[in-house]
Amino acid sequence: SGPIGVLALQGDVREHRSILERLGAEVRLVRSPDDVAAINGLVIPGGESSVIDKLARVFGVREPLRTAIGAGLPVYGTCAGLILLADEVLDGIVGQVSFGGLDVSVRRNAFGSQADSFETELMVPVIGAPPMHAVFIRAPVVERVGPGVETIAMLSDGRVVAVRQGNILGSSFHPEMTNDGRFHRLFLDNVDRSQYQGTVAG
Ligand code: GLN
Repeated sequence: SGPIGVLALQGDVREHRSILERLGAEVRLVRSPDDVAAINGLVIPGGESSVIDKLARVFGVREPLRTAIGAGLPVYGTCAGLILLADEVLDGIVGQVSFGGLDVSVRRNAFGSQADSFETELMVPVIGAPPMHAVFIRAPVVERVGPGVETIAMLSDGRVVAVRQGNILGSSFHPEMTNDGRFHRLFLDNVDRSQYQGTVAG
């Protein structure tokens, strides 16, 4: 299926790389516009979204990524990656922007200091049994879901923690930190089915 990119500016790049390679993908770390042009799919890791945003602008990959995502590049974002895919970020730092593409509003650090991180078993119907062991670390929550967006996982209190819209997949939690490749498999299936032809550099 061609190289799968992992945005490698900050965050848990290594964990995504190893789970993707375990699933048979050829991984290319993405740090330049040339890297963006070479990939058929992209994972945006967990980490700190405001830092990844800043570095993406410094490295000149923000605009190429926005163009590629707009052209249908299959993408999967975990935690900070989900924040970077959201059209609207609530509680971002001053000046923080996202790549966008996903018609949702996401609140950063939505669980507050009383529950900075926690783990839970999460049923994800599109993935099936058994439930995912979901790791949340200063995680965001999806507070608004646009009409074209499908909610694919919720906490027991109804808060939305995983969504998809076309070729864009996002989760508040980190499957790359457990040994569960099912979310990445879903993403790689999107890559296999995708009509994405890349973007032509101007
Ligand atoms: N709180 C982080 C942010 O705003 C996300 C945390 C994570 O990716 N585990 O980017």
